[in-house]
Amino acid sequence: MFRLVLLLVVFPYLAQSACPTIISRSEWGARAPKSSKSLAQNPAPFVVVHHSADANCQNRQSCKNRVKGIQDYHMNHNGWQDIGYNFLIGGDGNVYEGRGWGIWGAHVPNYNSNSIGICVIGNFQSIAPSQTQLDALKQLISCAQEGNYIRDDYRLIGHRQGSRTSCPGNQLFNEISRWAHFDAGVRP
Ligand SMILES: [Zn+2]
Repeated sequence: MFRLVLLLVVFPYLAQSACPTIISRSEWGARAPKSSKSLAQNPAPFVVVHHSADANCQNRQSCKNRVKGIQDYHMNHNGWQDIGYNFLIGGDGNVYEGRGWGIWGAHVPNYNSNSIGICVIGNFQSIAPSQTQLDALKQLISCAQEGNYIRDDYRLIGHRQGSRTSCPGNQLFNEISRWAHFDAGVRP
């Protein structure tokens, strides 16, 4: 009987999805942003999913290097203040901190001020992300909800719904279109 009671007391806590391990900016060797500002709407009403449209990375060292490369490209080539996304997800299943929670991004016009932008590293036009990468994405979104970084009634969209692009690739877009909170009604 005692065991049953203990299980009933403990189970709700076990059932909560914990936040994934997030590799912090200092852990991947981020450059400081030139500037940053808070989201205009926080908690954010939107989650926007991207792919990086290039090769995936399979271990922590190669994924750190990829994230650094993306930051360099966004700051040096695009002239942005920082890496564009709020978070990135490597093929190693780790979440990498981009601009982080509550910060105005640079990833899709019209939604930079009111969304959390998450880039799944790899090209998912014709191949799907691994289950590990998808699980990390789901866990990060649950974590955002628990932490009140996104609204309880947040809307999930792909980049192609915000502007004319193939991002996040057909395979990843098809996947997220089956998830809770996906909003098919959003169009560029
Ligand atoms: Zn995108």
